[in-house]
Amino acid sequence: MAKIFASSFELAAHIEERGHECRLIACAPDGSPVVAVRAGGSRTPAVFITAGSHSTEQAGVTAAVQLIEELQTEHQVWVVPTRDPMGMNGYCAALDWALGEATALASREDLEGLLRDRGEVIIDEEDVVVALINEFAFTTRNLLGRFKEGDADLLEPLKGRRIFVPAGHEDVAGAAPLERAYTLIVSPQGEVLHVNRFHDTPWAPAEVRATRRLLAEVQPGICFDLHESMGIQDRYWLSARKQVTAELDQLEAQIATAVIGRIAEAGTQFMPDDYLPGRFFTASEPGVYWLDATVRGEGLNLMDYAAREYGIAFGTEMGMFGTFDNRVAQGMLTVQAAVAAWESHR
Ligand SMILES: [Zn+2]
Repeated sequence: MAKIFASSFELAAHIEERGHECRLIACAPDGSPVVAVRAGGSRTPAVFITAGSHSTEQAGVTAAVQLIEELQTEHQVWVVPTRDPMGMNGYCAALDWALGEATALASREDLEGLLRDRGEVIIDEEDVVVALINEFAFTTRNLLGRFKEGDADLLEPLKGRRIFVPAGHEDVAGAAPLERAYTLIVSPQGEVLHVNRFHDTPWAPAEVRATRRLLAEVQPGICFDLHESMGIQDRYWLSARKQVTAELDQLEAQIATAVIGRIAEAGTQFMPDDYLPGRFFTASEPGVYWLDATVRGEGLNLMDYAAREYGIAFGTEMGMFGTFDNRVAQGMLTVQAAVAAWESHR
């Protein structure tokens, strides 16, 4: 089976053991490394590959690491395999770091009691407890989309902080409950989003600013962010981005068609014809959905930003409930097929 990394430290050590240099581009608040690795050839523009902004989506992380060696191209390749190292290292690691000692948190059920005992409870409702510990907030469940107008008082103590959510899925390899943390970011204005936002705003978390700086340095010609979807079982879809010129738009569509052809050949199923991942997507062909960030709101995610600033950009969404090996293979095949099509059309 493809390797599942337990932590961002193990991931960086693995890459260096394989003889690649890890460039430290940011440290999360607890010192966990965000690393970038250069691979590929010497031609420009570069290929830019990222993963791991949502830490339960570990097949993308493993695929990104494997692509360091297995993406065949004469172009430079830059890989940032995990964009949220604290989330990757998990809820217990974040909690222990905030408390300054090791806790024995074995289940989600233990969590509420621990937050009440050791934290400063700031939200205490029937279905959720949120507590501050040190500079962080910890919650018993996800708060995305929870805050409404009029919740200004609730949000006040959370502004500018990150909130750790006990993420996990039963039976998903690499994403067992508490094995990872979903990281929510609260802006100084009280907007509650996550690590794959804030790419177009002056205020942004360190991990986001690091990929933004690296993009500016590298000036890539094609970008990928490897995600996984909870949509339907093991079904796959590709997330394309509207380009700033008609010519690039046509190239984005051609590459999408090439990727989808290869993914279908591999026997992977796409979403049903009437499926849309959200109201801010439009479908072009089976398995391909174009994200319009202006309809979504919430600002730009990494691929929205890459498309606006640098050109061709895709997000993958491997079905989370497939086998880990298939999820990794689909992530790698997406990048390999897209880069081959990009090179042949340029
Ligand atoms: Zn994701």
